This record gives sequence, structure tokens and C-alpha cells, in this order.
Amino acid sequence: MKTIQDQNFANQKVLVRCDFNVPLNKETREITDDTRIRESLPTIKKLLADGAAVILMSHLGRPSETGFEEKFSLKPVAEHLSQLLGINVKLAEDIFEGKTIENAKSSKPGEVLLLENLRFLPGEQKGDVAFAKYLADLGDSYVNDAFGTAHRAHASTAVIAQFFPDKKYFGFLLANEIKNLEKLLHYAEKPFTAIIGGSKISSKIDILKNLIPRVDNIIIGGGMGYTFIKAMGGEIGLSICEDDKLDFARDIMKEMEEKGVKFYLPIDAVCGDKFDNNANIKVFPSNAIPSDWEGMDAGPESIKIFENVILSSKTILWNGPLGVFEFENFGHGTTAIAKTVAAATKNGAFSAVGGGDSISAINQNKLADQMSYISTGGGAMLEYLEGKTLPGIAAILN
Ligand code: AMP
Repeated sequence: MKTIQDQNFANQKVLVRCDFNVPLNKETREITDDTRIRESLPTIKKLLADGAAVILMSHLGRPSETGFEEKFSLKPVAEHLSQLLGINVKLAEDIFEGKTIENAKSSKPGEVLLLENLRFLPGEQKGDVAFAKYLADLGDSYVNDAFGTAHRAHASTAVIAQFFPDKKYFGFLLANEIKNLEKLLHYAEKPFTAIIGGSKISSKIDILKNLIPRVDNIIIGGGMGYTFIKAMGGEIGLSICEDDKLDFARDIMKEMEEKGVKFYLPIDAVCGDKFDNNANIKVFPSNAIPSDWEGMDAGPESIKIFENVILSSKTILWNGPLGVFEFENFGHGTTAIAKTVAAATKNGAFSAVGGGDSISAINQNKLADQMSYISTGGGAMLEYLEGKTLPGIAAILN
């Protein structure tokens, strides 16, 4: 893998694609979670230490692609990055005019220039070659460190790499993501348990298929479990269900049985009489939920079973909440899983967590430093684990 590790970038202008798509407070425009910015620091610091001029590129949110919009400006990122690095990070506000080219050309070793939100123009998401060339002309080398957008074939994430046939590299963040995901897919120590939650089977079909040959246990939690339970003839009341996926659920259960994968669904469900944190709450067997109740969290008996499986695993992959964790009263299952994965990691298991909801459950419980690896890319992580080729990665490799 061609990483920045063994290169020296002295006196070069290095273009780095980062993922600074951070959540912002709508009113104050303050950054509410700077994880993605902090994760990019090792790469930026290494380049600065080498004596490079660093030119950073990113997108933020979904602007209309018709030019500058204050609410999608990367200004708060430039300011925060300045604080974290202890140097002034200049923002190239007029990204698509001559001044940016002048700024980039005149940038000196040890300086950091951040280009404004690339999605202010349509060329970025379209993967426009001319736009990619415009960006490429600003630097001598290209580094991709944006795992969160590695599954997109955009101008700055993939198309640009063709202009640096011998000078394109993985940054530390992206290299680390690849190393950990490869470990999960190809070198996982057994027993390997995948915990897959969330609302819909439809978004997890390919990952389930790709994981079956690799794992020993699959725990299904969250709303998607009810489609499986209904497929087995269970009564699920008002719980969410994808009726058009019942056949898929039956097929996948058969496949797991044939491949010897142990499959765990919640045996009991914490149910509400309405979709509300203040609903009345009762626990029912998850296959005997009365018609006016809705399954919204894994029940206590299920959690005990899941805990045993997780604690006896050497590799754990977790993606998706076990219930409607946004409602405090239905977040206990998800919290229990977060704590159990942390405990298993302490006992020596390798744990990998991805997806915004699982990560926010981990952060809410202050367990982030107790996981082996937290992915910075939800969609990109899923696609990697589905076995797909990610354009941002392929562009550096090829
Ligand atoms: P996904 O976007 O498919 O990863 O699913 C995440 C969402 O699933 C979260 O917003 C959860 O609130 C939701 N969810 C989890 N369990 C349930 C459930 N039993 N019923 C309805 N929604 C659920």
C-alpha cells in the first residue's frame, strides 16, 4: 500500500483530501463533534514536519452547488484546525477564481491552506475531469485521507488521482481504515461475531451476504429483526417490518444454517404502545407481541444471551443500534451492547464499530477509547464490508 509513511514531502505542495464533513450547531455554527478533524491531524502533522506546504480539500454538507453559501462554509473548520495545529490555517474562500491558484502557488513549507467547500460547484460530485485537473494543478502530490467519501467517485476523492500517477498516496487515517477492514474480512481471529442493527434489512442485505462465509455468529437487533421474526411465523404487532424482504430473510437464515453460522435474534422485546419515549412500556416475547404494541428495544433476556456471545468472541463487528436508542427509555439494549463490546475489548477481543448511531451510543457512554477501532465512514465502511471496490481507494492503488 502506498502510504505517506515512507515518503518525504519536503518543499512539495501536497494536496490532501480530508473528510471535514463535521456536524455543526445550526444557530451558532460551532462544531459539535470534531472527531473527523482530530483524526486527520497525524497526516497533516507528518506533512508539515517534512517541510511540505499542505493544501487541504473537503466538502461539508449538501450545498446547492450554485456557489458560496455561508451555512456550508468551511470557515469554522479552518478556525478549529488553526487551534488544533497551533498555526494559522488560511481559508481559500474564492476557491474557483484566480486568487486560490495564487494562494496555492505562493504557499510555503509549513503553511496550511484549506480550500472552501468543494461542493459549492457541481464539478465535485459529478466527478468532472476538468475540475479535478484544476485542483490537481495546485499541488505536486496527492494524498487521500477521506475514508468517509472513499465510496464516492468525486473529483477530489478519485478522479484527481489520475493526474498523479507516481505521486498519489494514502494518508494515515485512510490506511488505518483499510488495515482494520482487511483484518475483519480476511484475518479475523475466531470466534468472529457480527452485530447488525438498525431499522431496515434492505440497507444491510449485501453486508449480511458477504459476512456469512466469514463469521461464526450473527446477532441481529433493532427494527430489522422483526422482519426475520415475522418470516419465522412470529406475531410482531405494530413493529416495523419490510414485507417485501420476508423471502430474503428466509433465504439468509437458510444460508446461515447451511454454513454453520449461529444466528441470534432477540427472544424478548421492550415494547411501547406508541412510538414515543413516554409510551407505556411492556416486555413481550419477540414472537408474541400483541397487535397494538410495537417492539422498540431488545429485552433483558435477549441482552443476556447477546452478552455471552460477545464476551466469548475474539473479533466483534458492530453496526447499527439495537433499538430506538434516540428515545432514552428504549436505548438500554444499545447501551448494554456498547458496554459489552467495551468489556470484550478489555479482555483482548478486536472490536470494530461503524455507523453514526452505534458511534453516538458509544460516545454517549464515553466508551470511544475502549474500542479497538471506530470507523470514520458509515456508508464507506458498509460498502467495504459488502466486498465492493471503493473508488477513492482504487484510484490510489491503480
Ligand atoms: P439504520 O438507519 O437502518 O441504520 O437504522 C437506524 C435507526 O433505526 C435509528 O434511528 C433507530 O431509531 C432505528 N430503530 C432501531 N430499532 C428500531 C425499532 N425496533 N423500531 C423502529 N426503529 C428502530
